[in-house]
Amino acid sequence: MSEAPLFERVALIGIGLIGSSLAHVMRRENLAGEIVVATRRDETLKRAIELGLCDRGTLDAGDAVRDADLVIVCTPMGAYEATGKHIAPFLKAGAIVSDVGSVKMPVFGTLGATLPDHVHLVPGHPVAGTEHSGPDAGFPELFQGRWTILTPAEGTDEDAVAKVEELWTRAGANVEVMDAGHHDQVLAITSHLPHLIAYTIVGTATDLGDDLQKEVIQFSASGFRDFTRIAASDPTMWRDIFLTNKDAVLEVLGRFDEDLTELKRAIRRGDGDKLFDHFTRTRAIRRGVVDAHQDDMPAPDPGRMPGPYQDND
Ligand code: NAP
Repeated sequence: MSEAPLFERVALIGIGLIGSSLAHVMRRENLAGEIVVATRRDETLKRAIELGLCDRGTLDAGDAVRDADLVIVCTPMGAYEATGKHIAPFLKAGAIVSDVGSVKMPVFGTLGATLPDHVHLVPGHPVAGTEHSGPDAGFPELFQGRWTILTPAEGTDEDAVAKVEELWTRAGANVEVMDAGHHDQVLAITSHLPHLIAYTIVGTATDLGDDLQKEVIQFSASGFRDFTRIAASDPTMWRDIFLTNKDAVLEVLGRFDEDLTELKRAIRRGDGDKLFDHFTRTRAIRRGVVDAHQDDMPAPDPGRMPGPYQDND
């Protein structure tokens, strides 16, 4: 007799890159007896059904969460409060509500603030992604070997946390449980600042004169090419990330500014030793990242833009 699925009914609210990747891996690993999907737009719902990502689909998130054991909110974070208000009356007692948003502190004040006491909130963030969006972008290996960080509030039901942990482990991820504020500080430097830099550089190149701009694109060396891939990430998602993680991003941006000023001074003064020491130190960090296996990606879909890594999380 085959083993029972981890959850009987899972509701996915939003089915873009992350939601569809979860649906694929939940099917592959028998993690859900039934997957119900709710989308905002009819065309997304139709596509999700065509792709076999759900057993049932609806445009009404309230209807989707009825009798669900696990609800995972997979929309941009700007939609959390409205989504929470909409689904709250329909959640069954004991249900687990989770999410995949890239910033964790605001989850408590938006989604969390709307939920009834009889459900367990276990926020999560899969630190994995690509620059592609929508239900076609997902693939089951997305989370393989990557981290998923869970940030439940103190006192959250341990069984609920353990079940969400098991879901992500069986999806191939390494799981870490962390304080939400700490998560947001770490991600501000490892993910949010790099994206801001990419958006800035590509913006600067776009503002160059016509001739120069043509050549930037034609001779785009790997450094700039990688930035263009990162800067192609979803504008809605990244707008919400910077608005919701404002304090931590501004803090690391301040430090980055100081370090940049120091490097500028070294270049102006012709201080080669300073530059060499700095680049030697950063080279060692690169080795650490490679050793921690956070630089390799599972086989991407054909058609996905090639790049040394795909980490738009
Ligand atoms: P996505 O591909 O753009 O998909 C977003 C989904 O949310 C779509 O199904 C969309 O439905 C729905 N949606 C958008 N706006 C909505 C609204 N106002 N109300 C209700 N539904 C709405 O997004 P994604 O890349 O999967 O990202 C989803 C979440 O995962 C975000 O919170 C993001 O921070 C987090 N995350 C993303 C990555 C990444 O690399 N992309 C990595 C880690 C975590 P319709 O198509 O019907 O409009």
